[in-house]
Amino acid sequence: MAKQLWIACALFFLCVGAASAQDAKTVLQAAQKAMGDVSSIQYSGTGHLNAYGQAYITGGAWPVTNLTSYTKTIDYTTKSAKEELSHSEPVPMVKGGGRPFGGEDKQVHFVSGQYAWDMPGAAPVPNLGAAAEWQLQIWLTPQGFVKGAMENKATAKKGTTGTIVSFMTGKYKVTGVIDAQNMVTRTETWVADPDVGDKSIETTFSGYKDFGGVKFPSMIVQKQEGFPTLELTVTSVKLNPGLTVSVPDAVKTASMPPVKVVDQKLADGVWFLGGGSHNSVVVEFSTYVAVIEGPLGDARSEAVMAEAKKLVPDKPIKYLINTHHHFDHLGGVRAYVAAGATIITNEANVGYYEKLFIAPHTLDPDDLAKNPKKPTIMPVKEKYVLTEGGQSLEIYHIDGDSHAADLMMVYIPKAKILVEADDFTSSTPQVPAPTGVRPAVFSANLMKNIQRLKLDVTTMAPLHGVVVPFSDFQKEAGSGKG
Ligand SMILES: [Zn+2]
Repeated sequence: MAKQLWIACALFFLCVGAASAQDAKTVLQAAQKAMGDVSSIQYSGTGHLNAYGQAYITGGAWPVTNLTSYTKTIDYTTKSAKEELSHSEPVPMVKGGGRPFGGEDKQVHFVSGQYAWDMPGAAPVPNLGAAAEWQLQIWLTPQGFVKGAMENKATAKKGTTGTIVSFMTGKYKVTGVIDAQNMVTRTETWVADPDVGDKSIETTFSGYKDFGGVKFPSMIVQKQEGFPTLELTVTSVKLNPGLTVSVPDAVKTASMPPVKVVDQKLADGVWFLGGGSHNSVVVEFSTYVAVIEGPLGDARSEAVMAEAKKLVPDKPIKYLINTHHHFDHLGGVRAYVAAGATIITNEANVGYYEKLFIAPHTLDPDDLAKNPKKPTIMPVKEKYVLTEGGQSLEIYHIDGDSHAADLMMVYIPKAKILVEADDFTSSTPQVPAPTGVRPAVFSANLMKNIQRLKLDVTTMAPLHGVVVPFSDFQKEAGSGKG
């Protein structure tokens, strides 16, 4: 009896499996017929664009900007796309990172096959890390999803709001929902992200309308890690506009530059580690080393840790101090967890970081994914001091900050150095600020905190830009209206 039941079950699942691919074909053909088949498409509109990974409050929504124009052109045959957009900051300014860019920020992005690049001006700038995600974005559009599913042996199953269709493209899974009217209402994929691991990109489509012979949604909302990154009200759609894209030679020949770490001694036992977009500071104590900031990802962290070991041989990196939760500053922290360092961060971040430190990183496994370790996190409320054998550093929460609610700065009293992340970015005639000058309200608030805590600072060591005398910062903060 039991054996018969088992055979019945096995047969049932075999039939369901066989029906699945067949169902997918039927559903996809119906969707293609209902929505309209195109070899290329162009859609335009306005809405909102959000700065992913730059929330004001840890775990909060990505800060919004106004998307004043947006046009995307996709050629499904050549797997190429061009995205042109222009966005501006809301007034009054919303809190969080990814700003300010001042006025209107125009961007042009291209992807063609394995190549991705930006066109900020007349010359192309290779965007080496973006191709996989931008290529996937082609399949996340309604017509693209149907084509991708047809090309990649999709499977189908019944869901609550329609048929769930899934397929693989390379190592990436793409899934979507086709409703009873044969419209694609939702697509989702997952890409590798140094902070969150297998990052979800979910797009919903609503308000389907006839745009001159093709059905296209009038509303597109894309979310990454649960919060909107793009909200687009579609105002026009062009069918088969074509897209001529030739990959520039500068893009074809580009390769990932090696991680560069340039060290500068600031005082006895204090080094500034620059050489890239984000800096770190190494502080030596009698029996251990503390590193301030683990930005970007594993590659940067490994290079910074190697440099720290060269500067201070035979002492372990016991602490990694993280200034705030923004993803560019958090991306390399996992490598320090893997290396066994204790992570010092704002108390607001503890639960959030604990989740990220165990989040699956299957698409691009990093050091911690390969060697999982239980993290040790030291929470800071307003102040925390590390002191040993005449060396000390003081960690302070920056009150009233508009960039990140959890933002902290580090003061090294013996050397009178202040290390801060995103309230002040040094800019000198020789070395312009890599991320643009910060708004006066940021530096003015930082100055207020320095005065409140009566810190005697002579040198600013910003985590973007170069080391400058405190007077440079005073000039900038002085012009601000707090
Ligand atoms: Zn930031």
